[in-house]
Amino acid sequence: MSESTTRLAIVTGGNRGLGLEACRQLAQKGYRVVLTARSADDAKRAAASLKNDGSVRPEQLDVSNAASVQAFEELARAQLGPVDALVNNAGVSLNGFDLNVVRGTLSVNFFGALRVTQALQPLVADGGNIVMVSSGMGELSAYSGALRARFLDPALDVAGLLALVGEFESAVAAGTHTAQGWPSSAYRVSKAALNALTRILAKQSARVHVNSICPGWVKTDMGGRSASRTVETGAKGIVWAATLGSDGPHGGFFRDGKAIAW
Ligand code: NAP
Repeated sequence: MSESTTRLAIVTGGNRGLGLEACRQLAQKGYRVVLTARSADDAKRAAASLKNDGSVRPEQLDVSNAASVQAFEELARAQLGPVDALVNNAGVSLNGFDLNVVRGTLSVNFFGALRVTQALQPLVADGGNIVMVSSGMGELSAYSGALRARFLDPALDVAGLLALVGEFESAVAAGTHTAQGWPSSAYRVSKAALNALTRILAKQSARVHVNSICPGWVKTDMGGRSASRTVETGAKGIVWAATLGSDGPHGGFFRDGKAIAW
């Protein structure tokens, strides 16, 4: 990938599903794309399946592994230059519901996006975009009023959010999460926390746009064959948010470029 004036996008979980398609669409729009994947071989294979003109660069990045994120941050600082779009796409939807599922889900869907964003946000260019690939499942109607109010509290900061997520984990461990008003879904809580992170980061930085998007129910390994949307359609909303101009929305939640409720 040659250094140039071309805009640069970094996508996590770019080896398959929505991440791979977002890489394809971004490259088609003329971006240099760093396609990252948990496995270096998967990243190489996926990049090779896309536009083969050197505009898609494969790199290893396991968002749930602090050492991997640090190594990628060092590479980005040394070799990539200003980042125009960071797409936090990597995600898991694990079967079942217990403490292991909660920890495994949060470590990718919430802590992974937090870790990657904290590492790379300083490298994002003024007016650049950070996209949190969230889900309609992150909406807050299934929570107790008290928890909903805490998620939506305008004074919530990252420390407060970490404490809130920690309370969920502790409540699951103690078997009291339902009584406390939490849903029995690690995925829902991970995406609600990701959305809260979007609101917090957006408030903290006017320099960079931060938005959450829901791709809809998409035919991928995660969404399954019965899903209503193609991967092309689902990724379009991600790419929309990744390519917003400096006058674009900030701190919102969108599906197909239209605002939806938290
Ligand atoms: P997918 O086909 O299952 O792909 C998930 C991607 O995330 C894979 O590339 C996977 O890599 C990667 N990943 C998982 N753990 C990772 C880690 N620790 N580090 C780096 N990458 C990791 O799912 P998808 O449908 O494309 O989902 C993409 C995003 O859209 C997710 O955040 C998901 O929650 C969200 N979403 C999907 C739907 C839907 O209907 N499909 C709906 C709403 C939201 P490996 O190949 O290494 O596992």
